[in-house]
Amino acid sequence: MNEQVVKRVVIAGGGTAGWVAAAALVKQLGPLIDITLVESDEIGTVGVGESTIPTSRSFHELLGINEQAFMRATQATFKLGIAFENWGQIGDRYIHSFGEIGTRSTWMADFHHFWLEAREQGFGGSLADYCFELQASEAGKFAKAEGLPINYAYHLDATLYARFLRGLAEPAGVKRVEGKIARVLQHPETGFITALVLESGVNIEGDLFLDCTGFRALLIEKTLQTGYEDWTRYLATNSAFAVQTRSVGPAIPLTRAIAHEAGWRWRIPLQHRVGNGIVFCSEFMSDEDARAKLLNDIDGDPLIEPRLIRYQTGARRKVWNKNCVALGLASGFIEPLESTSIHLVKVAVTRLIQEFPFGGCHEAIANRFNDQSRHEIEGIRDFITLHYHLTQRDDSPFWDRCRTMEIPDSLAQRMALFRDDAHAYQDGNDLFRVDSWVQVLLGQGLAPTSYHRLAKMMDPDELRTALGTLKANIDKGVARMPSHQEFLAQYCPAGDP
Ligand SMILES: Cc1cc2nc3c(=O)[nH]c(=O)nc-3n(C[C@H](O)[C@H](O)[C@H](O)COP(=O)(O)OP(=O)(O)OC[C@H]3O[C@@H](n4cnc5c(N)ncnc54)[C@H](O)[C@@H]3O)c2cc1C
Repeated sequence: MNEQVVKRVVIAGGGTAGWVAAAALVKQLGPLIDITLVESDEIGTVGVGESTIPTSRSFHELLGINEQAFMRATQATFKLGIAFENWGQIGDRYIHSFGEIGTRSTWMADFHHFWLEAREQGFGGSLADYCFELQASEAGKFAKAEGLPINYAYHLDATLYARFLRGLAEPAGVKRVEGKIARVLQHPETGFITALVLESGVNIEGDLFLDCTGFRALLIEKTLQTGYEDWTRYLATNSAFAVQTRSVGPAIPLTRAIAHEAGWRWRIPLQHRVGNGIVFCSEFMSDEDARAKLLNDIDGDPLIEPRLIRYQTGARRKVWNKNCVALGLASGFIEPLESTSIHLVKVAVTRLIQEFPFGGCHEAIANRFNDQSRHEIEGIRDFITLHYHLTQRDDSPFWDRCRTMEIPDSLAQRMALFRDDAHAYQDGNDLFRVDSWVQVLLGQGLAPTSYHRLAKMMDPDELRTALGTLKANIDKGVARMPSHQEFLAQYCPAGDP
């Protein structure tokens, strides 16, 4: 690959991916590189992406972001997990919480094995009883205090978030250029990108180009023709309508994911409004029906016309190709069921900073980056596929297809391990923890046939007391917390946007 040192970084696109990259690069490497970001107000951004996962917090720490200022600026609320409704069967509901379930500090087997033993003996209640964050979210409560460990993420306004990050990046030295990219110039021999040519005729030259142009993928695909691996066979939805509504009640610290006959719909409560959307598979539901269903099922008055977004689930064959690194929607897309897309942008940017190609875009560094990115997105693909495949729903052709489809071997192995022995695991770089897998596997209705017998070595009374104490402490802690809405009002009141 190219020996040219990398000094000039050009970011094409100013959606969440572009501004996340700009803010992080300038914060961490500012004096070492020049950063220019090109965006087009006329094209705009995808305008969705409002539910996050807890890794956002560590990323914000990296950027030195003050949480209260960020939450005020983006009308953010706290998120403790996702409530899945109608997924295993119509009428079912479970929560995938960000919290730890039970305790595992002294036990050799994961907590849920002890719970399964208790259930065998006729007590133990629901696994959900042993998760503090889950119980707090059910009660609509939230608090942050010294000595109160609580794992959470945010719901935020996507447009305001990009604006907030821009407010950090520009004063720190990122140069923003407004304009439409008309052409991309390449080196005649190496094929490396040398410049973006704007419609105005301005040339923006660079050494490293970040493709943050969203689904258009102007650099990584339209120019470099990198290729895309389609995963529609596992994740069949390909369309969404998004609409914002006026809030009609207090914000709950949960994203709601409500399954319907050909996909699902989301509800994301912010301070000033609610984000709603319907995700569907166009093979099984028409645009008109999806739009009507969304408008019929929302609670408050719509603030905008529903917007249709089409997508193809899958991953770019390489996210780093020559001197171009694709981030965000340009790099691939797994539908938003577990709110993982912005997370993927953040880990990719963090990795880019850690592995920054100061000495040139060499093959080894690109290969490593591509391998790591592939591992991450495949792990997420498997986890999301689990929600669709592990269902008893047989009320529509869509669910019949999901239930009977072929799944990746990696996922089939995980399901077999849980079904046979109640084991779940988190490999080295896996995003989802054991507790996440357990909550979704059980929540979708997979009852293990066996489990670890370590719990049998515990005296039944001791087990009963231990579980009872855990639950009582959680209940006591939750009872003392203010409501989520009260906490927001004193912690980060946003006022008018
Ligand atoms: C239905 C749906 C729901 C989602 N929900 C979530 C969620 O809850 N949580 C989550 O983490 N993620 C979610 N995502 C993903 C999330 O929206 C994206 O990962 C995130 O917004 C990043 O988008 P982006 O910046 O890559 O693209 P975009 O927002 O599309 O930005 C592209 C940028 O490129 C610019 N551009 C494009 N072409 C040109 C050109 N020719 N010249 C100049 N500029 C150009 C545009 O103007 C824009 O600034 C969702 C996605 C979809 C489709």
